[in-house]
Amino acid sequence: GEQRTVAVVGATGSIGASALDVIARHPARLRASVLAAGSNVAALLQLCAIHRPRHAVIASEAAYAALRDGLRDAGLDTQAHCGDAALEALVSGDECDTVVAAIVGAAGLPSTLAAARAGKRILLANKESLVLAGELLMAAAHAGGATIVPVDSEHNAIFQCLPDAHAHAGLKRIILTASGGPFRGRTRASLADVSVEQAVAHPKWSMGPKISVDSATLMNKGLEVIEAHHLFGVGRDRLDVLVHPQSLVHSLVEFVDGSTLAQLGLPDMRTALAVGLAWPERIASGVSGLDLIAQGGRLDFEPPDLDAFPCLRLAYAALDAGGTATAVLNAANEVAVSAFLQRRIGFLAIPALVEHTLAALPATPATSLAALYEADREARRIATVAIADKAIHA
Ligand code: NDP
Ligand code: MG
Repeated sequence: GEQRTVAVVGATGSIGASALDVIARHPARLRASVLAAGSNVAALLQLCAIHRPRHAVIASEAAYAALRDGLRDAGLDTQAHCGDAALEALVSGDECDTVVAAIVGAAGLPSTLAAARAGKRILLANKESLVLAGELLMAAAHAGGATIVPVDSEHNAIFQCLPDAHAHAGLKRIILTASGGPFRGRTRASLADVSVEQAVAHPKWSMGPKISVDSATLMNKGLEVIEAHHLFGVGRDRLDVLVHPQSLVHSLVEFVDGSTLAQLGLPDMRTALAVGLAWPERIASGVSGLDLIAQGGRLDFEPPDLDAFPCLRLAYAALDAGGTATAVLNAANEVAVSAFLQRRIGFLAIPALVEHTLAALPATPATSLAALYEADREARRIATVAIADKAIHA
């Protein structure tokens, strides 16, 4: 077939590295044509030297000159760009047919939406864009003729079990698995003074700092329930969560006839990215097959502890409330996680801040992107004020 041209958006992050690793294994069928990052020019320049993209984009205007000069000094003919508009134009244009959407946080929505409107094949890692604006993003993908292949490992597993997401007759429920994170089995009280280092030390996955904290609070699983709701059109009553500490079963799908399908594999994001990069074909990812005996010979499951990890309960409540509530949940969580990573608040203040912000901003119908961004902004303001006022004691 034709060589696929790939824009890796969030190239300097953890998902970006995994995507580029798979792409580099298949030079005849895949080429990284656009690389985009936030502000880390040095890392982006290194990637440009290796992958030789046509275009490199840095979000920060202040970093543009360093990117342009660095590319010139290295003798690369990669074109430098900066800002959101340049990124949206590149992910919509002829330079790529595939977009790996791997920016962290709500900042990923504009480029993901642009790729959806332009009908691209989107490998969606940026779950926050669905939590913020799931209905609008799915509608834009439908209208634009885009294909969304989820690469979040759970959703990628469900996608593999349910490849025709719009014709899942007989689907009974979806069961998302969760590792339980570094604090699985702990009581709520014992989490009061856990450190940033402990929170980001995930037992099974190596990931960026924000999603690592989300995994420790179980907010990640809450965001993923909302993500699954939008991707697969399944109501909350048919979306369950099971803790599975080995992280080998990436999720399960149950049908009315008693069948349950699951996808298994080592916890390495390159598998999900390879699925998306080659879909509907299969290519090598660099990840070896699963040796269940070598992995300990057992698969354990337990229910999530919503008392110790209230973020999962808050996410279900936001999904129930609908409208702007999930945008508020996401924004408050981003502010709280960032403050925790800067050691300005404790671990238990994360759910407390999210709960406080949800209570302060009752859900309204999410009829437009403007309304969602307004809710996002207002939630960030309320959470930021609560931190500054030390209004949250947790
Ligand atoms: P990282 O923190 O490792 O990387 C984030 C990337 O986003 C970096 O390339 C960063 O650039 C870029 N970025 C941040 N802000 C902007 C911006 N405003 N404009 C353009 N680029 C920006 O995150 P991860 O790779 O861990 O996660 C990325 C996304 O994938 C998240 O939504 C996460 O939830 C999801 N995900 C991640 C998984 C994982 O295994 N890591 C698993 C499943 C989902 P810079 O380096 O310049 O700051
Ligand atoms: Mg996941």
